[in-house]
Amino acid sequence: MTKRIYDSIFVGGEWVAPQTSDTLSVVAPATEEVIGQTPICGAEDIDRAVAAADAARGWAQLSAAERAEIMNRFADEIDRIATDLDTQVSTEMGMPITLSRMANAVVASTLVRYYAELARNLDWEASRPGMLGTTMVRREPVGVVGIIVPWNFPVSLLFMKLPAALAAGCTTVIKPSPETVLSANMIAEAAAAAGVPAGVINVVPGGADAGEALVEHRGVQKIAFTGSTGVGRAIAARCGDLLKPVTLELGGKSAGIICDDADLFASVEQFVASTLVNTGQACYASTRVLAPRSRYAELVDAITAIVSSLQVGDPLQEATHMGPLVTGRQRERVENYIASGRASGARVTTGGSRPADLSRGWFIEPTVFADVDNSMPIAREEIFGPVLSVIPYGDIDEAVAIANDSEFGLAGTVWTSDEQRGLDIARRIQTGTFGINGYLMDLWAPFGGVKNSGLGRELGPEGMEAYLRTKSIYRTGTQQ
Ligand code: NAD
Repeated sequence: MTKRIYDSIFVGGEWVAPQTSDTLSVVAPATEEVIGQTPICGAEDIDRAVAAADAARGWAQLSAAERAEIMNRFADEIDRIATDLDTQVSTEMGMPITLSRMANAVVASTLVRYYAELARNLDWEASRPGMLGTTMVRREPVGVVGIIVPWNFPVSLLFMKLPAALAAGCTTVIKPSPETVLSANMIAEAAAAAGVPAGVINVVPGGADAGEALVEHRGVQKIAFTGSTGVGRAIAARCGDLLKPVTLELGGKSAGIICDDADLFASVEQFVASTLVNTGQACYASTRVLAPRSRYAELVDAITAIVSSLQVGDPLQEATHMGPLVTGRQRERVENYIASGRASGARVTTGGSRPADLSRGWFIEPTVFADVDNSMPIAREEIFGPVLSVIPYGDIDEAVAIANDSEFGLAGTVWTSDEQRGLDIARRIQTGTFGINGYLMDLWAPFGGVKNSGLGRELGPEGMEAYLRTKSIYRTGTQQ
């Protein structure tokens, strides 16, 4: 793959020279080789991007149908670059290519078309009988949106925000994660090629400083953030002070409850996808696996067999199930958790080390811990790596109590041969989303967390609400 070297940033519809001379290098986690470079934006660049987004407010003056037409062209352009974009994400952050093909371009273009259509059909001005006459309730865009995203699903997490914002009539400044900035620039190129008006989408590469400057900026009317709970909390505190609306998609430590009637081997693919997807670097992964005591030894053996059969290696190879972790730092963090699990008395049944046959790249073996108690740090904290904790339970009431005994509440799964039983359990879990015998995110349904997993919802029609506000126009004395 050719290196992607950028010496400019996408602001106001053009690639312009940044005000700073700082640059960041993107390193492929599978090879530890530099695969590209971009400038790092300073405060002046953020100012310029916000000013460009503000100057592009004509976007809101277009009809929803006109915006939809442009958005559909944007979707077509993303489809056109799909192979390159999916390969880029696999290379820059290590996502296995088979997952990449399902989780990047296709999600992006689907969501752009979906929100374009929703906007077309939205009741932008609705008159309703009021207390003293007729009132018109108008939907208006919130204004300039600052979008801050992490590296783990860099494209889909961006497009869980961007199309809803565009459809609502908002303009945007995107702060991608430093690890995945190259794919974000490819999105900017696609927007330009599709004729998205100048300033509607701006991209400001950088790290925490660039993110902070965006949050702080008075010209930004709303922040949409996905990332860690700690950073989300800090952003929420600042937005609280500024009275700036904010939506937060944060961490998770979800439970996968295996019922005593479950046939795990009938759903191996789904089980792996919901617990270890993206080499465990997924906020919604059910990394606490709750197994009934009556079948505990058998289930630990089954899970161990499934996990030890997963192929670790080059993310661009079709046969690879687990790629590398995103950075050396992330691997150290995961290794520290593995050491912590061992120290607290949990038993490693497979994995636990770096793969002996991979000398380059930030790989780690997928790991299963048995004999885990829900009070151990490996059961309470988000590891963000391929590490499962198998926790025993007595009856379903205890399983539900353990599942709910978490500071997080983003997702979860139940595994059972009785769908009704699964639904009953789903209703009892304190979480924003939940899957029965699998976890396949429905892009048309709201997604988000409770407790420390976040604030607000993305996706579905509900996902557009955060980018709209209402204005009530009282027409006192008039009757409908
Ligand atoms: P992170 O919080 O470190 O960074 C996320 C983004 O915020 C990056 O773009 C980063 O540069 C930026 N940032 C960092 N500090 C900032 C600050 N002080 N002000 C403004 N911006 C700042 O998270 P990460 O390590 O990139 O991603 C992993 C985390 O994301 C995990 O905790 C994971 O659970 C979470 N996540 C949540 C969801 C969800 O939908 N709930 C989805 C994916 C990932």
